[in-house]
Order: sequence, then C-alpha cells, then structure tokens
Amino acid sequence: MRKIPHPAWIEIDLSQFRKNLSLVRNHIGKSLYCLPVKANAYGHGLSEIGKVAAEFGVDYLGVAYLQEAVKLRRAGITVPILVFGAIHEDQIPDLIEHDLEFTLSSKFKAKLVHDYCMKIQKKCKIHAEIDTGMQRTGVRASSAEDFLKYIISLESLELVGMYSHFATADTPEKEFANKQMDDFTKLIQLPFLQGTNLVVHMANSGATAYFSGSHFHMVRPAQLSFGFYFENPPSCFSGLSSCFSVKAKVSYFKVVEEGQGISYGHTHITKKQTRIVTVPIGYGDGYPRALSNRGSVLIRGKRFPIVGMICMDQFMVDVGDQEVYVGDEVTLLGKQGKEEITLWEMAKLLGTIPNEILCSFNDRIPRIYKDAKSYTS
Ligand SMILES: *Cc1c(COP(=O)(O)O)cnc(C)c1O
Repeated sequence: MRKIPHPAWIEIDLSQFRKNLSLVRNHIGKSLYCLPVKANAYGHGLSEIGKVAAEFGVDYLGVAYLQEAVKLRRAGITVPILVFGAIHEDQIPDLIEHDLEFTLSSKFKAKLVHDYCMKIQKKCKIHAEIDTGMQRTGVRASSAEDFLKYIISLESLELVGMYSHFATADTPEKEFANKQMDDFTKLIQLPFLQGTNLVVHMANSGATAYFSGSHFHMVRPAQLSFGFYFENPPSCFSGLSSCFSVKAKVSYFKVVEEGQGISYGHTHITKKQTRIVTVPIGYGDGYPRALSNRGSVLIRGKRFPIVGMICMDQFMVDVGDQEVYVGDEVTLLGKQGKEEITLWEMAKLLGTIPNEILCSFNDRIPRIYKDAKSYTS
C-alpha cells in the first residue's frame, strides 16, 4: 500500500537499536534475553520492533496484554512470547490458541486454565510470578512454595518459568532491591525445584545494568534496550543511545508585529516584531501540550522556543530574526547538527519519565524505520 505523505513523523534508527541490543547482549553474557515490547514497544512500534528483535535473536518478547501478543503473532513472529499481566478468564482460549506463555499468580486462575486445557486436550506453558515487594501481582513469597507445588500438580500446566519484579532497582538505594533478590533466591533453592529447567528471571533495566547478581537465567530490560535508560551512559554502556526521534516540516511562516497574542488564550504576547513559524504536530499526535511556552525545537541546527499553547494539530515557534523557510526540517526530539533535545530533557521539563513521553505518541503520527543496511544494499 502506498504511504500517504505526512509532514510530521517519528524516526526509528534501527542500526542504533541493533547496536543497543548487542551492547545489552554482551553485558548479560549467557543469560537469556527477553525484550519487553509492551505499549507499542515503548512507542517505537510493536510489530516492527518485534520483527527486528526476533531477527537479531532475542530469546523472548515480553508484553503486558494478550492483545499485544496476538498482534505479534499475526505479524508472523514465532519467538516465545511471555504475557506479564494478570490474565482474565475469557482470554484463556486465545492465550492457548496463539501459543503464548503467560503468568499465573493465583491457584484460582491456575485451575481455570487447567480445566480449559483438559477440555481441549492441550498443555500450556506457565510462568509463576512471586511478589517480593512490588505489591502489584504475584503470590507473596510466603505462599510461593504451596503455589508452585499446586501448579506442578496440574498435569496440563507446564511450569517453565518463575519470576519476580523489582520495585526500586532504578534508584541508588540498593537495600530494598537486595532484600527482594535475597527473598527470591531463597525460593529458587527450594528442594523440589532442583533439577528442573525453570527459567528464573527478575531483572528490569535498572537491575540488568546495576545488579549482575539478579540476572539469573533471563533478563527483561526494555529502557536499556531502547537506549534511553541512562541520561549519560557509564563507560561499560558507551555507545548506547536512544533510537527515537520526532521530526516535522515547517508548514507556515509569518511576520508578527509587537504586542500580538499567539495561539489559544493569547498566553504569549510578542515583545517585538518577530518571525513565527507553524509546525504541523500537536497534542492530538501525542506531543505533550504541557510543553506550551516551555519546550523548544531545533531548526537549521538552532534551538527556538515554542510560543503560545500547543494546539491539537499544530503549534507555533518564534524564530526571531533568523531565516527559516516553509519545508525546513524541525526536530522536536533527537539530534540536529550539534544540538540535541533528549528524552531526559523533555521528561524533566514535564516532571515525568521518558517512558510516559514515548508512550503518549499515537498512531496518527507515522513511524519511519531508518536502516543503514537498506542504504548499502
Ligand atoms: C515493563 C516490564 C519490564 C521492563 O522494565 P524496564 O525497566 O522498562 O526495563 C520488565 N519486566 C516486567 C514484568 C515489566 O512489566
């Protein structure tokens, strides 16, 4: 199908993404590599990132919801997929039909799955989730032994994995993370689990980077793999970088006199005659409205302020006395010349984390995948 031209886009640098995957792979040694691709692969595009990661050779893809896993299967991706989120009874048939591994953290749900599997004469692969301090999902450590034994007793369930999730691995405070790791390690040592091939996993990005003792058999780092986990990567991760940029083309230019209000509510008044350009992307695409009168963009290698409220489909930039033309490329996120607007800069300005910014971009703005490989072939 022909792509409809659009003057704003997200650019995903696949060469950089593969480089990030290689850096993580080197860091984790022989551990299996599960790439979480939930929330549209942190905004990078679920199916495309899933395909590239599968080709690269990640061992697992991780998703939060059944629907994300089904989308990956429908895209022809055959690597093991683990659904992290709690399952609901009406999802059981699809979980099994699409050959998904999924998480159980209650006997009640385990029994529902088992009964369904017995009815259709199929087995399914289960990961048991143990809560060691997140208080989200997962059986508490004190009931884990009983729960694991129960799962093992149900003949249609194949217990292939056991995992937990860190609550504080992203902060310098290591005490609680260590306690979680210790509690989890005790469970792994339960006598009846010895000699099994359980895939034991716990590490998110923070733990993959900082706690090599938490890698066990598999790690699940997403932010690290997408390259934006560190504001400044330490030397052992040098070369790691975000592969996500947002760009647009200037759609309009006008000279505005002194004392004129710009955009809805006239929240910005020009102090002198100036040049105002319009950029065709807005909060309807997921560009945060909270950047109104605060954010900036790059044009012709220079930084210019956003003036007035960001609209649903466009916003205005004050370029002062600089020459800027309709059609010029605008960088809203990423590098242009020597300048760069990073996810971290934007997140700090907005009082949030990079994840939320990435996830807010929707499908109205197209994603373009740049691949150095395709230029040379
Ligand atoms: C989202 C998620 C991850 C990835 O966490 P990052 O810190 O973004 O790497 C890992 N494990 C589970 C269970 C998750 O839900």
